[in-house]
Amino acid sequence: MQVNAAVMPEPGQIEIREFEKPSLANDALLLKVDGVGICGSDKHMYLGHTNLNFPVIPGHEASGIVAEIGKDANQVMNVMGGPIKEGDCITVVPGSKNCGKCYYCLRFASRPTLCTNRTIYGFSNCESPPYLTGEFSEYTYIHGNSWVYKIPDGIPEKIRVLTEPVAVATRAVERANAPGVAQVGEGYGIGNRVAVLGCGPIGLLVVAVLRGTGAGTIIATDIVASRLEMAKRMGADVAIDVSQTTSEERVEQIQELTDGIGVDLVIECAGLPNVFAEALNVVRRGGKVIELGHYTDSGSIQVRPHQICNKDLDICGVWAYPQIQFQTALDFLERTDAPLQDLVTHYLPLSRLEEGIQMLGQEGVYKVVIEPHR
Ligand SMILES: [Zn+2]
Ligand SMILES: [Zn+2]
Repeated sequence: MQVNAAVMPEPGQIEIREFEKPSLANDALLLKVDGVGICGSDKHMYLGHTNLNFPVIPGHEASGIVAEIGKDANQVMNVMGGPIKEGDCITVVPGSKNCGKCYYCLRFASRPTLCTNRTIYGFSNCESPPYLTGEFSEYTYIHGNSWVYKIPDGIPEKIRVLTEPVAVATRAVERANAPGVAQVGEGYGIGNRVAVLGCGPIGLLVVAVLRGTGAGTIIATDIVASRLEMAKRMGADVAIDVSQTTSEERVEQIQELTDGIGVDLVIECAGLPNVFAEALNVVRRGGKVIELGHYTDSGSIQVRPHQICNKDLDICGVWAYPQIQFQTALDFLERTDAPLQDLVTHYLPLSRLEEGIQMLGQEGVYKVVIEPHR
């Protein structure tokens, strides 16, 4: 059997190549990809913003079906919600199991994304067997070192493909929880006032998660009016149009909305350096800033370190999420009443991946899903 996969030989190029279907090791499984979302990071990869060992088969947001499974896979993999068998609907954490041996694994086990020996589906070289290392492909080879989740029946089919981005969004909010002493305002808690800066798919999911966790006033900002409408549907109370206001006006407006105090928490989801500087301006003294948007390096900006010192701020980065975060994401997807289905806006066949990547960021485009078997 031949398998079609979208290969990026180098940034700016995508071609569909045929691969021989790999023979399966006893601890592996073959994932038949039903749908896989295009991520902002795929666009960054296409634009040459990521330093990877090309050629790469991108794609890391798949849900699909177990097409074949090795006899030891359930024992060797970390299978959640299983055991799994042929025909089961699953999703796979892009990051493999941790090595357990590197500097970070030995000392900072609670931060698995720091492991220096992980492999990541959709970001790995595809030149050697079993080749199918990414999910913009009819099939992906899931090796024994993986975390696999059975998708609960209660999650509507349309939003299954959001599991990975929801893992990102829930991790950002959980990052804000620490140290979690809510009654003294230390760490994000119920009723807190939050600003979400940037309303692409991740920012919108962050809004939905915040609303689900009992946030107080949620203020969303973006440069596109229709995204601000969407932010309100996801649970934002106030939407501020960046294209119609100056940075000073936005700071003023947020001060007015928070009794002259500033927000308890800011989550930066735009990935633009000047938005990080704005986060420092709108957060209250003793508040928290979560930097989520800068998954790739988009340059530098002047900040005033005195603000950080004087405001006694906590600033936290978010580098992906622990593998167990997929459980949080699936639990959220099963229970949320946010209209997440509205975020899945386009479906394309594998041959139109390049077009899909170029659509990201356009008006009315949120999650574009590639369906390799369509
Ligand atoms: Zn992603
Ligand atoms: Zn490690």
